[in-house]
Amino acid sequence: MTRRHRNVKIVATLGPASSSYDEIRALFEAGADVFRLNMSHGSHPEIAERHAIIRKIEADLGTPIAILADLQGPKLRVGVFANDDGEELVPGAPFRLDLDDTPGDATRVQLPHKEIFDALKPHAHLLVNDGKIKLRVKDCGATFADCEVVVGGVISNRKGVNVPDVVLPVAALSEKDRKDLEFVCDLGVDWLALSFVQRPADVNEARELAKGRAAILSKIEKPTAVESFREILEVSDGIMVARGDLGVELPVQNVPPIQKRLIRKCRAAGKPVIVATQMLESMIESPMPTRAEVSDVATAIYEGTDAIMLSAESAAGSYPIQAVQTMDNVAAEVESDPTYRDIIDASRSRTRASVADGIVAAAREIAETTEVAAICCFSQSGATALLVSRERPRVPIIALTSQMATARRLCLSWGMNCVVTGPVDRFKHAVLAAVRGALSEGIATIEDQVVVTAGVPFNTPGTTNILRVAPCDERKIIPADPE
Ligand code: PGA
Ligand code: MN
Repeated sequence: MTRRHRNVKIVATLGPASSSYDEIRALFEAGADVFRLNMSHGSHPEIAERHAIIRKIEADLGTPIAILADLQGPKLRVGVFANDDGEELVPGAPFRLDLDDTPGDATRVQLPHKEIFDALKPHAHLLVNDGKIKLRVKDCGATFADCEVVVGGVISNRKGVNVPDVVLPVAALSEKDRKDLEFVCDLGVDWLALSFVQRPADVNEARELAKGRAAILSKIEKPTAVESFREILEVSDGIMVARGDLGVELPVQNVPPIQKRLIRKCRAAGKPVIVATQMLESMIESPMPTRAEVSDVATAIYEGTDAIMLSAESAAGSYPIQAVQTMDNVAAEVESDPTYRDIIDASRSRTRASVADGIVAAAREIAETTEVAAICCFSQSGATALLVSRERPRVPIIALTSQMATARRLCLSWGMNCVVTGPVDRFKHAVLAAVRGALSEGIATIEDQVVVTAGVPFNTPGTTNILRVAPCDERKIIPADPE
């Protein structure tokens, strides 16, 4: 497999436009590093089939590939109307939401979520149909909310409702989410994305159900999640800036500063972050992106994101391969711009809390000041590899692990080249495995040197304590190292 010549990762959502072996493999070869299975669409048999195809491609190409299953989350919807076409709501008019399942009219409709009425307060806003209609609560009780129409429009059967101002006491995981979670964990996915996370407890709940079978990624798409971001990040393994719903729940102009802030905080915490939604939206129908979209992709990369994501562009669009290629081309251009390097270096956090932090910082400095071809890091759990990624070094990172699950999860992180090794129990063997990995990935030649970090004793997580600069010529390694 030829390796990627970029550090930022590409997440491609699969769907009807990308469901066969050939289509998915072509996406991978064009540059997709992580595949997203969207549980809001697709039946279990379809999801299982795509999962099996990805694993087959992984085996055929001999390279770890990450699979991210995105759970739908609690999606609130209104009931139905007597008129199938719905009703036009006009600004200033009163409109009531209640628990009564009588079909709605121009004055009221059912909102079959009792918990919302318990949490609503006067002055709260309700957004209907992707934020197109805006209602303000004037008066409310346990079974109703009397609202005033602020922004009008047509409301019709089962349109989605967002309640941005209120922390809803709804379970983060619906009945469907729990079934989907069990199903995908059983299949074997690497990441679980949680929609509409509101508080750290939501993440903890999913983690308990996943029982270590998948890493947990929190989608930030509610104002309450933005407010509690620090606490949510602490309990999450990764983050998605889910700009679609975020831009409905908050004024759209709030999204760019939030994106910048979240990316910085994720990098400081050493946890991967994905920038998602509408990155190349016009490519659903056109082989050519708009200049603004290209600029948006570039901006996310300049900001230091770990990954950029395609949604409908790869799942249901007419040009999935071109969309991946566009991201790949933009990434190559941005990452070779000296300004990119300046920004990335300037935003490196200086907090060094552990021996492992010191070792990875030293590895990066050696790579900056001497000619080494790569930083090779042994990491069973992936924790040290994430620290290396956080440094954003100038040379490629090779994460070596005997754990397939670790290698796959790390595919989401900036700059990571993952190599699965056999069990390693002596440092000399670790150096040999690192050198062989660097050579086989095409990252180093026999004349090069690499930095190797590891922890001794082996197989004890959290022990990174050794750094060695090793030649890639095996004949030079063995006599030099009597261990
Ligand atoms: P979704 O999440 O595509 O599952 O809604 C992403 C977003 O809201 O941006
Ligand atoms: Mn969303």
